[in-house]
Amino acid sequence: MENRRKFIKKAGLLSALFAFNPWKAEDYLPKEIKVSRKPIVISTWDFGKLANQEAWKVLSQGGTALDAVEKGVQYTEADPTERSVGYGGRPDRDGKVTLDACIMDENANIGSVACLEHIMHPISVARAVMEKTPHVLLVGEGALEFALSQGFTKTNLLTPESEKEWKEWLKKSEYKPVVNIENHDTIGMVALDANGNLSGACTTSGMAYKMHGRVGDSPIIGAGLFVDNEVGAATATGHGEEVLRTCGTHLVVELMRQGKSPQKACEEAVKRIYHSILKRGKNPKDIQIGFIALDKNGETGAFCLQPGFSYAVQHEKGSTLLASKSLL
Ligand code: ASP
Repeated sequence: MENRRKFIKKAGLLSALFAFNPWKAEDYLPKEIKVSRKPIVISTWDFGKLANQEAWKVLSQGGTALDAVEKGVQYTEADPTERSVGYGGRPDRDGKVTLDACIMDENANIGSVACLEHIMHPISVARAVMEKTPHVLLVGEGALEFALSQGFTKTNLLTPESEKEWKEWLKKSEYKPVVNIENHDTIGMVALDANGNLSGACTTSGMAYKMHGRVGDSPIIGAGLFVDNEVGAATATGHGEEVLRTCGTHLVVELMRQGKSPQKACEEAVKRIYHSILKRGKNPKDIQIGFIALDKNGETGAFCLQPGFSYAVQHEKGSTLLASKSLL
């Protein structure tokens, strides 16, 4: 009886730990009741939670990580209430909604689109670039022509809300990305499927009121997203110019290859960016960067420059929204 009580007490403690951080508590569980770390999907910001649920529909049926991440981020792209991704995203300073997206699979196949207008699902155009062209990146008019040739249809992505705000913005015309405020943000998602394969997707309307033609990190493989099926995958959000400067997600994955955990790898990459910001005499307080990472064993990590970045994790035990640790 005493033993049973002790067990129940211990189990209660374990489930509390588990609720807080699923993959840490697991290490304390006896082998026979160890949960599987795959499949698993993680994605950026609060909107990642609903996107993960879509991805999970694919993963839980034994589908591929590639199909899961495409399906997952499509949800956010089509949601007009998310004002930094796809339909309803804030426009550039000329009032044009221009989209950046990329996708990468377990065989290092990649596809991207940048500065793409009028298409509801840039992530699916990126996948078509990957699967149906000899290229990896199409931009602007060429990307649109390709999308239309593939049967995608033209949609007006500028919602009345975004148009109204843009007209208001024009009065001062001051370009100022605001930290943790949704005048930018990206849905980046990486997943490990039941077969142990990794894929990732990343899609955004970029910085609100950017110059027309501006491309951020999100469609650039190695900056906004990188997958190495032997090691792990990472995706980024925040000030794209900073992530581009450091090839952020490639750095995170290479650090994992050198033996760092996903968490430590994200931390190191954020520190590099922090030093680069200081070296250039900029104020890190004005800049946000967030990385999330997933390794081949299903272990997750996340880190950001300053508090306020959230990420969502979904696996067989359910879905969680977590606050990322920050450097500042
Ligand atoms: N990284 C995106 C960009 O620079 C924006 C963001 O995720 O906040 O376009």
